[in-house]
Amino acid sequence: MEQIKLIDLPWGAKGLEPVISEETVGLHHGKHLQTYVNNLLKLLPGSGFEGMPLEEIVKKASGGIFNNAGQILNHNLYFLQLRAPREENRPVGRLAAAIDAQFGSFDAFKEEFSAKAAGLFGSGWAWLSADPDGKLVITQEPNAGNPVVKGLRPLLTIDVWEHAYYVDYRNRRPEYIASFWKIIDWDVVEARFNA
Ligand code: MN
Repeated sequence: MEQIKLIDLPWGAKGLEPVISEETVGLHHGKHLQTYVNNLLKLLPGSGFEGMPLEEIVKKASGGIFNNAGQILNHNLYFLQLRAPREENRPVGRLAAAIDAQFGSFDAFKEEFSAKAAGLFGSGWAWLSADPDGKLVITQEPNAGNPVVKGLRPLLTIDVWEHAYYVDYRNRRPEYIASFWKIIDWDVVEARFNA
């Protein structure tokens, strides 16, 4: 049975500096994500969702259970796809070929994904997902939304809730998005694509 708990960060609290500070990681993982975990653990008993895999809960629940389960799934996907900054950081392998085929080039994909992340009004997430035919799609999801609800397979995401960037970038969301490309662990995204 899948246990609902706070994930460990493979790269440590300072592992994303200077793109994302230790302070932001501490708040984002240690406070925000921890709170979603605590809330869900309080809501699950007697709900009918107890013992269900997180993704199933997100697909089937609504209200507070959906919001907290969605935020846990989203943050797990977000944090586990990051690594220490690299100036030259691009996808490789089958995923790189699929991005080129679908969007024309990696730069064109980057531009579209960044525009969707910057243009999302309020709190939410931008996603790269695969549809059931393996076609790549970029979507915006408000609040706790996750593309699994639409039958898509999430590959890459950026959290554009203010808590993800406000300590480091203040109101400059586009700067956070521009820096985000340095810390994507493309090996993880590739593994999700090939899964
Ligand atoms: Mn967040």
